[in-house]
Amino acid sequence: MELVLVLVVILVLGLAAVGATVATSRRSQRRRDVAERAAVDRAVTEPRPKAEPKAKPGPTAKPKGEPPPGPADIEIVLPSGDDLVLEPDAGIPPEEPVVEAPGVAAPAEPPPPAVRPRLRDRLGKARALLAGYFGDLRSRSVIDDEVWDDLEEALIRADVGVTVTAQILDDLRRRVKEAAVSTPSELLDLLKADLVESMRAADRSLAFSPGQPNVWMFVGVNGVGKTTSIGKIAQREAASGRKVVMAAADTFRAAAAEQLQLWSQRVGADLVRGQDGADPGSVVFDAMAAAGNRGADLVLVDTAGRLHTKVNLMEELKKLRRIVDRTPGALKEVLLVIDASTGQNGLNQAKIFGEAVEVTGVILTKLDGTAKGGIVLAVQQELGIPVKLVGVGESAEDLIDFDPEEFVEALFAA
Ligand code: GDP
Repeated sequence: MELVLVLVVILVLGLAAVGATVATSRRSQRRRDVAERAAVDRAVTEPRPKAEPKAKPGPTAKPKGEPPPGPADIEIVLPSGDDLVLEPDAGIPPEEPVVEAPGVAAPAEPPPPAVRPRLRDRLGKARALLAGYFGDLRSRSVIDDEVWDDLEEALIRADVGVTVTAQILDDLRRRVKEAAVSTPSELLDLLKADLVESMRAADRSLAFSPGQPNVWMFVGVNGVGKTTSIGKIAQREAASGRKVVMAAADTFRAAAAEQLQLWSQRVGADLVRGQDGADPGSVVFDAMAAAGNRGADLVLVDTAGRLHTKVNLMEELKKLRRIVDRTPGALKEVLLVIDASTGQNGLNQAKIFGEAVEVTGVILTKLDGTAKGGIVLAVQQELGIPVKLVGVGESAEDLIDFDPEEFVEALFAA
């Protein structure tokens, strides 16, 4: 009996324990349900934290140190305020290469070849002066002393120079005798042929060797048209397919470097320039290095032209020459720029510069604005330096190869 009682007690206690466990687990479940519902309710009713406003970087305002966004992430804000989102497969166009060297402009498209102006159209003043004399001489019937005097006066007024005029007239007297010429008209025809003949012999080409940087140095006093001539030459060389580097080695005149910079951008040439007052030698050195690195064909070197500090200037030019000569065979031309309207003064400049640096050719500028076209003859006859190019205006195409026949024809045209 006692055993039965014990068993009943155990059974009752066991059932109670099971019931308590079930109750506990139900409570737990209920608590979980309540907690979950509360969470859901909170999620529905509580205000969401605001999303950070999306940054709208401009094309260059990417955050530093972050990898560049993939195409789908790129947002470019257009000036209109509309957003442009690139499609994932939309390629980003490569940027134009920018030349990094200081003072070196990114090249533009080379300009098309220029139309060559006619010398005859530009030598109006020189022709007008000579035409007056020649017209009068042709109207006479005999060659007398007065004819010879008038001819001398015409040549000197055209700035052929006393020495060269004397040489020309001596030669002409001899020819007149030999050819038994009797009229002033025939005399002028002889003179014309004589002038062409005397200038024909020179080599007027600009030396150039393909496959290496060729240096053409430009010297001359301030204001003669040196920088303009360099710009014009850069234009025609770039148009013919040559890669050009311009070196602004006149570091004392900021305006000269700025003028060259405009030309370099216009013609698609690189420009190397230094700080104001920098050593011109370092500019030339850097230009040579830039030309080598970029496979340039031509280095056009602008130099200073302060003639009042003559000794220093000539020393500086010699030094620049030495720097170029460190690359054997690179220096192809030393071109002296002379303003034709300065007439015989230009000859003196040529002598001074010629002593410092071996001048290989002359560029005679501003022939369009002067009656003193005869300086062409004086430069070649007196100094033995060929006139290679002539400037006949301020536009890019107004620098042309000098052709003696065309020049004499233009002077003698009625
Ligand atoms: P630089 O000091 O020797 O470099 O001289 P620039 O190149 O600055 O030229 C001085 C002035 O001469 C500028 O106004 C040029 O436009 C002008 N010039 C240069 N060449 C010619 C030319 O052949 N004809 C004319 N009419 N003007 C020229």
